[in-house]
Amino acid sequence: MVQLPPRARVVVIGGGVIGTSTAYHLADAGWDVVLLERDRITSGTTWHAAGLMVTFGSTSETSTEFRKYTRDLYSRLEAETGQSTGFMPVGFIELATEPGRLEEYRRVSAFNRYCGVDVQEISAQEVLDLFPLARVDDVLAGFYVAEDGRANPVDVTMALAKGARLKGATILEGVAVTGVTTAGSGASRHVTGVSTAYGDIECEYVVNCAGMWARQLGEQSGVSIPLQAAEHYYLITEEFDGISKSHPVLEDPRNFGYFREEGGGLMVGLFEAVCAPWHVDRIPDSASFLELPPDWDRMAPYLEAAMSRVPITNDVGIRKFFCGPESFTADLAPVVGEAPEVRNYFVAAGLNSIGILTGGGMGRMLAHWITTGRPDVDITGFNIDRLQTYQRNPEYRATRTVESLGRVYACHYPDHNPHTARGAKLSPLHQRLEAQRAWFRDVSGWENPGWYAPEGHEPDQGEETWGRPHWFDWWAAEHHAARNDVVLMDMSFMAKFLVQGKDAGARLNWVSANDVDGEAGVITYTQWLDELGRLEADLTVTKLDDETFWVVASDTAQRHVETHLRRHFDGHHAFVTDVTGGYAQINVQGPRSRELLQTLTTSDLSNGAFPFRAAREIDLGFARALCIRITYVGELGYELYVPAEQAVHVYDRIVAAGPAFGLRHAGTKALASLRMEKGYRDYGHDIDNTDTVLEAGLGFAVALDKPGGFLGRDAVVAQKAAGPLRKRLVQVVVEDPEPMLVHAEVVRRDGVPLGYVRAASYGHTLGAAVGLAMLEADEPIDAAYLSSGTWTVEIADRQWPCRASLRPLYDPANEKVKG
Ligand SMILES: Cc1cc2nc3c(=O)[nH]c(=O)nc-3n(C[C@H](O)[C@H](O)[C@H](O)COP(=O)(O)OP(=O)(O)OC[C@H]3O[C@@H](n4cnc5c(N)ncnc54)[C@H](O)[C@@H]3O)c2cc1C
Repeated sequence: MVQLPPRARVVVIGGGVIGTSTAYHLADAGWDVVLLERDRITSGTTWHAAGLMVTFGSTSETSTEFRKYTRDLYSRLEAETGQSTGFMPVGFIELATEPGRLEEYRRVSAFNRYCGVDVQEISAQEVLDLFPLARVDDVLAGFYVAEDGRANPVDVTMALAKGARLKGATILEGVAVTGVTTAGSGASRHVTGVSTAYGDIECEYVVNCAGMWARQLGEQSGVSIPLQAAEHYYLITEEFDGISKSHPVLEDPRNFGYFREEGGGLMVGLFEAVCAPWHVDRIPDSASFLELPPDWDRMAPYLEAAMSRVPITNDVGIRKFFCGPESFTADLAPVVGEAPEVRNYFVAAGLNSIGILTGGGMGRMLAHWITTGRPDVDITGFNIDRLQTYQRNPEYRATRTVESLGRVYACHYPDHNPHTARGAKLSPLHQRLEAQRAWFRDVSGWENPGWYAPEGHEPDQGEETWGRPHWFDWWAAEHHAARNDVVLMDMSFMAKFLVQGKDAGARLNWVSANDVDGEAGVITYTQWLDELGRLEADLTVTKLDDETFWVVASDTAQRHVETHLRRHFDGHHAFVTDVTGGYAQINVQGPRSRELLQTLTTSDLSNGAFPFRAAREIDLGFARALCIRITYVGELGYELYVPAEQAVHVYDRIVAAGPAFGLRHAGTKALASLRMEKGYRDYGHDIDNTDTVLEAGLGFAVALDKPGGFLGRDAVVAQKAAGPLRKRLVQVVVEDPEPMLVHAEVVRRDGVPLGYVRAASYGHTLGAAVGLAMLEADEPIDAAYLSSGTWTVEIADRQWPCRASLRPLYDPANEKVKG
């Protein structure tokens, strides 16, 4: 009979690499931790991982930090615990065999070098010298990291478990958590303990690290964890001469395969283009050390392609064709963080086949988050609350997962659009926009127009490219229409909330850095901050009357914003209702937007009667709409919030009146290029939870003097008092009109790297690629600093001269917006 401790501060559920790493780091922070494993440590997915240890390959700073930290941790754990991790820095080579991939890896390696990964581009001959068994006739280049290599996943996990025990953690095997107990309701519902067949353990926090079981365990507590297991394969050949343990790891994504030595032969790992979800209904509770029957027929073409890279694998016998399940997510990012549904219920699951090589960093970050209350790296792309609850539906998971695993080895061109699980959310205008030849992309499940094909053309994306896509000129025309005439944009995917109650204004004002509770009928742009003055959210709040507010945030922030409000409204007369699907958002933007709309309403839209930031309900044909004069493109413009059932009517009226004003439909590609020229921020893209509001350049939206203060105010005041900033977001414009910026391009001043482009677009008015880069320097970053240096941005392997500016290079005085 297992003896359970009656209580612990944290219970970690699951003894795979993620659970043990989390327990290790929590124990290291001095916390009282119990880890419960249903069967034996590693018995889930971890036991059969290939153990590739790769720091190269990501353009996420967070993921790269995880990878570097993990590699360092696994190199030092043996000295600390006496248990080897099997880590061997045998080197890692990524092959580029097509121009698109060469460009991608050059871009990635420049960014990875900036992050401290020593990656070298090597020739085909050098690949052959390092891996003489490979065929290199089609190799354009290899990307080589000498310090990367391989580890033994079971040994890694045992070492983490041992290290955790040495630091005071209790690890119990053979104890399945049958439920997480909670108390309270609504926003105050919180974890109180876990139940097992051997009794309960009281705890303050749980961390669900139950791998592919995490979803069903979460569901028991009403926590949505949209991940899905899928088959994942490698083949192991018989032993043969000419291969040794010191052989580097070789990855050939174009041919779906990777190679490393295993037992005197080769392991041929696979990431097939079209994969097979496993047990969409429910992962069997008792499944341990699983080996699934391999689907030879489905996998044969991929095996053949992979083995063609190392021809000897065709001549030696096959010892094993292994298939095991691994968890995947819709966007190939893990599911991490505190569940919106239950306080102190943390999750770390859905590792998308990089759980071993990121596990150390993941555990470190999670322990930091739990023990300090906030993560210390950008988690906007990983946070559990970016995901929507419909994504856990069986049909969604079954459909999207077919695509996920294959994306790992795809060439990651910009503007990629998933092709599975489409049509989940349609704007009321969908059919109208389809008739306008919209090219739809998946925006948090919404079908949203990225751009429109002109009459006589089909909205085909065409070939993916790092250069100018075939629709570049159509995109440019939409951009220019917004600058010169007027455009209509369907933005119905934006997250919309009705906030009501006697305390609504005061509570909103407490969480908002700007003053959002002034005059009614006014929209206010604001950030929400944490106690350290760092960004929690970036959004608008419109005061409709003393007890009614309209809050709008970006699609990916939908659950984050709602959760944040609920938690800050708890115990007050303030209530939030998500009305996203109830209203279409139709944006009419551009210098002729007022003229156009004025023909459709009896409300006076003149500058005097309806100034910038005004918000009023207006008549439009037979409809009533909330009309807000605000812009995210840097022009005179209006956002119309129309009840879903009247959206088509309003749209038809606008389109019918449009020709006289040069109205054009515009998609979110134009939105991106317009806002980027104006330097407007996008949370989760160019600003994130690691930036303070001042570093983000948003000090103008902070009302330091408003009565009652606001959350994070002291930190803002302290940072102001500390003197000029050495970390700041700047706009970067390439001097040459040709190259395209995407993301992660390194920015240098006088040859010294200071940061990278976090988000970018093409500035059709500025005439060149434009981005926002967060820079950090040894001296204050101000206008003089920016104008005195020689600036370059590294795109693939070339340095391109650029300008760097704190003020937007398009309409810095805001004349267009307020006119
Ligand atoms: C073929 C293959 C090759 C791979 N190769 C690599 C690689 O080269 N590099 C890499 O980084 N990654 C690789 N991976 C991925 C890697 O194995 C996973 O990302 C990682 O193991 C996930 O770890 P985890 O801790 O999240 O899940 P798991 O290892 O599955 O751990 C979850 C644990 O939770 C336990 N559990 C579940 N429910 C409960 C409960 N109710 N109570 C208590 N315990 C519970 C389970 O028993 C299990 O032990 C590979 C995966 C596969 C399938």
